[in-house]
Amino acid sequence: MKTPYRYVSNYKDGKWDDGVLTTDDKVCISECAGVLQYAQTVFEGLKAYTTVDGRIVTFRPDMNATRMLASAKRLEMPVFPEDRFIDAVNQVVSANRDYVPPYGSGATLYIRPYMFGSDAVIGVKPANEYQFRLFCTPVGPYFKEGVKPIVIRVSDFDRAAPRGTGNIKAGLNYAMSLYAIVDAHEKGFEENMYLDPGTRTYVEETGGANFLFVTDDGTVVTPLSDSILPSITRRSLCYVAENYLGLKVEHRKVRFDEVKDFAECGLCGTAAVISPVGAIYDHGNLIQFPSGMEKMGPVIQKLYDTLTGIQMGTIEAPEGWIHEIK
Ligand SMILES: *Cc1c(COP(=O)(O)O)cnc(C)c1O
Repeated sequence: MKTPYRYVSNYKDGKWDDGVLTTDDKVCISECAGVLQYAQTVFEGLKAYTTVDGRIVTFRPDMNATRMLASAKRLEMPVFPEDRFIDAVNQVVSANRDYVPPYGSGATLYIRPYMFGSDAVIGVKPANEYQFRLFCTPVGPYFKEGVKPIVIRVSDFDRAAPRGTGNIKAGLNYAMSLYAIVDAHEKGFEENMYLDPGTRTYVEETGGANFLFVTDDGTVVTPLSDSILPSITRRSLCYVAENYLGLKVEHRKVRFDEVKDFAECGLCGTAAVISPVGAIYDHGNLIQFPSGMEKMGPVIQKLYDTLTGIQMGTIEAPEGWIHEIK
C-alpha cells in the first residue's frame, strides 16, 4: 500500500544533502547508474507499531542504522550517518502516522530504508553519487490463520560465498536466492535451509531469516558463521532467552548432522519474529522436530511471547530497545 510520504537524501561531491520528505515515489536515475549495472545497493527493514498504551514505536532502529553502515562500507558506498538514519525513520513514520495499524491488529507499518549508486558508471568502480531513501507500507499480521509450523528443505544452492557478502544486507544476496526460493515453492517447501558454502556441513540460514534451535534440555543454540546476516531479531531473542527466561544460550557453529537431535527449530526475522519450523526435508530424508506441525514448541513460544510483549509494551523492555515516535 502506497503511503503519502517518503524521505530522500542525495550524496554528491563527497557529502549528503539535508534530505527531505516527499510525496514523489518515483526515482529518476541514469541508465548507467551503479545500481543498475553493478547492483551497488544495500537496504534495511524494520517496523513501527502501536503499543498497548497507544504510543507509536520502532524496535531498536539504532541497530538497523549500524548494520546499514556496515553494509554500505562493504560495497564501497558512503555511510549514511546513524543519527540521520534514525531521524529519517522518525520523520517518515510521523508523517504517515495514520497508516500505523492499531494495537492488537497484529498488523504493523513496515519501514524500508535503502541506498544505491545513482550516477553513471560504466567502468567497474564505485559510483560517485548515491541516493538514500526510506518509505513505509502497512503490512498485515504475519500469521494470518494462526501460527503454523512450516516445512523447509536443504538447498543445493548457496546464498552467499565464503568470505563474500552474506553478512551484509545487500540486494545482490536476494537476487541470487530467487531461483532457489521459486524452485522450493514449486516443490512445496516454504523456505530453503542454506548450508555453509565452503564445506556444506554447517547450518547457515534461510534466504531471509536466521535459525534458532532449542535442545531437549532447553538450551537455545544459534549458528555462528561469517556469511550469516546478523539478524537483530535473533540477537534480541538470545538476550531475552538469557536475561528474561534464564535459559542457556550458545552461539556456535552448528553441524547439519546434529539438527535431527534438536527439540525445536525456528526462523528469526523482523517479519515474523519467529516462524516455527516443523520439519526439514533433506534429499529424501525428513527431519521432524518433536514440537510437531500444529504449534510452536514450548521454548520458542515463550521467546515469541516475551519479545512481542516487549515490543508491544506489555513487558518491560531493556534500556533503549523501544524508540518512541513523537
Ligand atoms: C534481514 C535478514 C534477516 C533478518 O534480520 P532482522 O534484523 O531480524 O530482520 C536474516 N537473514 C537475512 C539474509 C536478512 O537479509
